[in-house]
Amino acid sequence: MPRYEYACRACGTTFELTRPMAESGAPAPCPDGHGDTVKLLSRVAVGGVAESPAPSGGCCGGGCCGGG
Ligand SMILES: [Zn+2]
Repeated sequence: MPRYEYACRACGTTFELTRPMAESGAPAPCPDGHGDTVKLLSRVAVGGVAESPAPSGGCCGGGCCGGG
């Protein structure tokens, strides 16, 4: 179940709620009881390290086909 982060605009606190995606847009009351809250961007989708092509010594890397 995804976790969402909310911020209360009344007291400025931030809190997280674990709820179904269908209820991600539902009002999330502040732990202090405030109702004026906004949903922050999810921090779930992080990462994505690009794979760097490993230098492989192919045919043209050794000089077998570099003759001229
Ligand atoms: Zn609050």
